Amino acid sequence: MAVIVQKYGGSSVSSPERIRTVARRVIEARKVGYDTVVVVSAIGGTTDELVKLAYQVTDSPSEREIDVLISTGEQVSVALLAMAVHSLGYEAISFTGSQTGIVTDSAHTRARIMKIEPEKIKNELSLGKIVIVAGFQGTTQDSEITTLGRGASDLTAIALGAVLKAEVVEIYTDVDGVYTADPKVAKDARKLPVISYDEMLEMASLGAQVMQSRAVEFAKKFNVPVHVRSSFSKDAGTLIREEAKSMEKIVVRGVTANKSEAKVSLLGVPDRPGIAALIFKRLADDDINIDMIVQNVSEVGKSDISFTIEGSDLKRTVAVAEKVAKDIGAREVSSDENIAKVSIVGLGMRSHSGIAAKMFSALAGENINIEMISTSEIKISCIIRKKLADKAVKALHAKFGLGKQRKARRKKKK
Ligand code: ASP
Ligand code: MG
Repeated sequence: MAVIVQKYGGSSVSSPERIRTVARRVIEARKVGYDTVVVVSAIGGTTDELVKLAYQVTDSPSEREIDVLISTGEQVSVALLAMAVHSLGYEAISFTGSQTGIVTDSAHTRARIMKIEPEKIKNELSLGKIVIVAGFQGTTQDSEITTLGRGASDLTAIALGAVLKAEVVEIYTDVDGVYTADPKVAKDARKLPVISYDEMLEMASLGAQVMQSRAVEFAKKFNVPVHVRSSFSKDAGTLIREEAKSMEKIVVRGVTANKSEAKVSLLGVPDRPGIAALIFKRLADDDINIDMIVQNVSEVGKSDISFTIEGSDLKRTVAVAEKVAKDIGAREVSSDENIAKVSIVGLGMRSHSGIAAKMFSALAGENINIEMISTSEIKISCIIRKKLADKAVKALHAKFGLGKQRKARRKKKK
């Protein structure tokens, strides 16, 4: 029988009514004839609460114990969902990470999946049961409980989809798909019927938080088709799949804004070989992830180096930058949290020219100054002032004709 994996996020199981709604939905898949595996997150907010509790007990909780603690969130929701399915007259069984056969390394709170031994799941499926798996957890070879990183129930679902060769992995969430832009900002944003793995990865890393990026990478690697959809409606959502030639016809698939980054600058840096290497080595040693980098000459023999990072890393980054600045004789360090990164994403950029010019002219048309630029094969990003981010998204969305009205008009002309 074909296998389907469904994953329900924390908001989909946040009340007894919602858990019963999910149970009905799961049963529908079973009735259609699928071998049905369901991955569930903790009830919305639970994981945050548990982490908070740990830090109220001590400033430095052991990571092993954090995993023992936060893995319980998912254990609650799988048991409740199994009970709800039973009450509707169907057979179901809940599994924790270790019962599922998800074996990980021992990096507590961010463990990596080493292998999956799905025999127990397969057994229960062959008995006709719906198998309900606790998301985001596994076990080491030595039976230690591990978790796979925040938001990693998506990853659990994709990984199970890969080993069980699922026809599709359905990610049920509180949005009904991936949009051309945030509909709260661009009122005429459209739901995308389909998007490639690479476009989705760019959109996710750029701030469109629909699915965990690691899960999308995993789906790409094992070519698992993913359907992101709403648990509150029957409408089809967005299919994330491997790319097809026809997908390149669309130059820009979406516009995103990331408001969570910050910029750090080292000013008056001596301009000689090895300096950039030294600065970024010191940042890397502290596990600081750098996004964009710009270097320009300020006065003779000196340069300014600016880079962007996750806003939550700002304090740490400035501390490291200040130490390095002292060591290399740079004049000063400055930081700026009032930035946003707006980006356009689309496979078609590979084969079309003039896209950057069009993007910059749309921003110029709104009098928006561009402070940094970076590109990849399928993405162009600009750093601008944070307060102008929404304006920029609207302008870009319109300029590239992504809105609903535009499309309707075009159809009429034909
Ligand atoms: N409950 C976990 C978290 O909040 C995992 C997940 O929801 O995907 O990060
Ligand atoms: Mg989530």
